[in-house]
Amino acid sequence: MSSSSNATPYRFRIYYESPATQFLQIEARIPAPGEHLLLRLPVWRPGRYELANYAKYVRDFRAYDANGKPLNVKKYIKDGWYIDTSTVDEVLVQYDFYANRLDAGGCWLDEEQLYINFVNCILFSEEALDVPYEISLEVPPDYEIACALPLKNKTLYARNYYHLIDSPMIASATLKRNFYQVGQYTFYVWIQGNWTPDWHELLRNFEGFTKAQLDMMGEFPFEEYHFLIQIVPYRFYHGVEHTESTVVVLGPSEAMDTADMYDELLGICSHELFHVWNVCRIRPKELFPYDLTKECYFPTGFVVEGITSYYGDLFLIRSGVWKYNQYLRELNKYIKRHFENYGRYHRSLVEASVDLWLDGYSEVTPGRKVSIYAKGALVALILDFLIRKHSNGKASLDDVMRKMWHRFGKPFEKGYSLRDFKNIVAEVAGNPLEQFFADCVEGVVPLEKYIEPLMEEVGISFMTNYLNKGTELFNFQIQQREGKLLVSAIVPDSNASRHLRLNDELIAVNGKRTETIEQLQQLIGAQTVAHLIVSRQGYLKEVQLEADPVVSFKEYFLQLKNNLSQEQQKRLLAWLHQ
Ligand SMILES: [Zn+2]
Repeated sequence: MSSSSNATPYRFRIYYESPATQFLQIEARIPAPGEHLLLRLPVWRPGRYELANYAKYVRDFRAYDANGKPLNVKKYIKDGWYIDTSTVDEVLVQYDFYANRLDAGGCWLDEEQLYINFVNCILFSEEALDVPYEISLEVPPDYEIACALPLKNKTLYARNYYHLIDSPMIASATLKRNFYQVGQYTFYVWIQGNWTPDWHELLRNFEGFTKAQLDMMGEFPFEEYHFLIQIVPYRFYHGVEHTESTVVVLGPSEAMDTADMYDELLGICSHELFHVWNVCRIRPKELFPYDLTKECYFPTGFVVEGITSYYGDLFLIRSGVWKYNQYLRELNKYIKRHFENYGRYHRSLVEASVDLWLDGYSEVTPGRKVSIYAKGALVALILDFLIRKHSNGKASLDDVMRKMWHRFGKPFEKGYSLRDFKNIVAEVAGNPLEQFFADCVEGVVPLEKYIEPLMEEVGISFMTNYLNKGTELFNFQIQQREGKLLVSAIVPDSNASRHLRLNDELIAVNGKRTETIEQLQQLIGAQTVAHLIVSRQGYLKEVQLEADPVVSFKEYFLQLKNNLSQEQQKRLLAWLHQ
């Protein structure tokens, strides 16, 4: 991807009349060398492997010549506009864009800030992805702009379209900014929203995980990096990686000083920073370059998200920012998400990676999905331990990632295939680990088979407990949502699965009205038969269930043992670099 700096830039101007409407006005001057010009918006964005179809946020697309005379615009495809440019060398394009999604990959406009991911709203032509872009922002004079792009007089300059969409920005009068340095690199931390951290503590912790990453990878590909952090008043957790920056959206703001939320902030920021190497540069070949006009299927989602999730947390304990209990608590979140999901019996990681484009990021069909994040992180853990074992402790997954960097990331000329990744693992481990890939990456072999004996080597036990607080005896679970008791999980092929449906509302148990989970547990616990009245789509239905002899609901977790052998201790310290 060379840059052709001689080409006439695509010049955009972004302004707005009323933040309350959340509509941006976007105007562009675009060279038009041919008879017509097809201008498009991406149908997805790097970092989110599902269709988003950003063209649906556009209203009133128009095109004009130099004299303000309208040009003919036709729609033949959903994400593009064909402009008749037979009479002009340059077009003026105008459109409105609805900026009302405050997630880490969206656009948002209100009285406090203008926040833009350019991948949502800035047009491209497939023939001119390499031309420079200039984006001038008409924002109030007291607004500061946080963005990794070069900035002059409120105009941002990008080498080409990919550079532009890799550089989100926040403009606001209430941005807070600080920075730290590791070696010759500078890291900026920007915070928008209702939270002021203990800066001293935050910068010390950020410096900790950044240093751990640089120690492992040996170098940082850029001089500067920007953390753009949005703190929102409601519960939210989302981050998106970019080459020279990241956007993280977290909330609720009033909980940001609690240990839990602060650890979430550290965890997500460490994860996104490691993406600079792993995916922004070390990229699956199917994403090299990004084709923004259609789905880009790739089998290596577990490398992209699993390995990044695994390392994001590992860097926090390696750097001493986290203690054992904090690290294990985060690892146990992956254990819980993976093992307490029936999808693990149905879907391999490779299938899950491809089918992200179909399923998206939420569960549509019960028991269908596994997570490339949760299962991916556990599979990365297994792989790390297997490499250590096969190399007698001389090598680890660290060596794999360094080799990936030197072969596929640093040169930045081509992406890697699943075969390339396997080859590097074989080189480092001295063993192709074929069974591991067949079982854990391409198959659905239960991960206990690997996790239990491998964790034992560092004195960590893989534990399971039966859950029998009440309804679990009847093989279903209840959640309280908006004052209702709703069926939230049912064991497949159980008695309950033949009578209950997800989202049935529980009204009464054994003749008594139930309004809270505690009441329910009292009424149902220790009974062998339960008479239930449920409301299903407004109709009342009576259900009689017998307690199942086999309870299937279990909780799964890892626990550090009290007395470790010397060997276990040695391996634990080597793994966590303590
Ligand atoms: Zn990620």
